[in-house]
Amino acid sequence: AKRDHRGQHLQYADQMGTEARARAVLLSQLREAIEKRQLFLVYQPQLNLDTQQLTGLEALLRWRTEDDRFIPPDQFIPVAEHSGLILALGQWVLDTACATMRDLLDTGVAPLRMAVNVSPVQLQDPGFFALVRTALADNGLQGRHLELEITESVAALPTQLLDSTLGALRAEGISIAIDDFGTGYSSLSYLERLPLDRIKIDRSFTRQLGDPHGARIAEMVAELGRKLGLTVLAEGIEDAGAWQALRAMGYQEGQGYHIARPMDKPALVHWLQHHPQR
Ligand code: C2E
Ligand code: CA
Ligand code: CA
Ligand code: CA
Repeated sequence: AKRDHRGQHLQYADQMGTEARARAVLLSQLREAIEKRQLFLVYQPQLNLDTQQLTGLEALLRWRTEDDRFIPPDQFIPVAEHSGLILALGQWVLDTACATMRDLLDTGVAPLRMAVNVSPVQLQDPGFFALVRTALADNGLQGRHLELEITESVAALPTQLLDSTLGALRAEGISIAIDDFGTGYSSLSYLERLPLDRIKIDRSFTRQLGDPHGARIAEMVAELGRKLGLTVLAEGIEDAGAWQALRAMGYQEGQGYHIARPMDKPALVHWLQHHPQR
């Protein structure tokens, strides 16, 4: 029995070691990739579902390796968060997205706002607000040009910190969207309490509109947004049917492959120049 116990213990330790090693390898590859400038941003348009007017762009991070493989952000963002590297990386994303917004304004093809994903680790950083202001000022942008997308997991952060950070950002005119709505475990009370502008319903719900269960959830989220006075944006619109169904449910805005895929900057500029409703 003693040997069994030890065996189990060793096996467990070994599993932990394997995971930690894999994380460490990915982390050092990520650091190297940043140095070699293998990371870049792509941008996905967000439209008003009634008028087709372009409202925003979401900046999404891409990592292309030397041998032309793409490592998905869902894989490397958690590693960056775990190590704290997300602070520098997130700052780079914010600066780069703001610089792009500046260029689009100068070219005369800008949307109303640029939306940037922000990790809870960044929100917790006491210097975050100052860094956001600097990114705006460096690029001659107003607060209204920027939206920050945060996830439900921020509900785990200390209430006071969250309220004061989000409050300060909104006082600058920056809008706040709650991302991947419906996938977290948090209570609804924070939704009512937090200073927010927009709810983004997760793609996992808009994908199942043909199914009564999926459609009911999408309807409930739209209703919730209406009651709270928040704009609702549907992500993952992959066909015209989903567009019309979501619009009928009261979604004011949407994004998805049916409208446009995330594009690198040259492709984006081309798309913007040809999109009729700017
Ligand atoms: P997200 O913020 O929910 O981003 C939406 C994801 O859905 C993106 O995946 C986008 O490419 C994809 N998508 C958009 N439209 C469609 C569609 O019609 N159909 C389908 N099947 N997919 C669609 P991506 O780019 O792989 O990003 C995954 C996640 O990685 C993001 O989810 C976000 O949580 C995270 N992420 C990406 N960039 C950043 C970043 O700069 N900072 C942080 N903190 N997280 C990021
Ligand atoms: Ca997002
Ligand atoms: Ca999302
Ligand atoms: Ca997501």
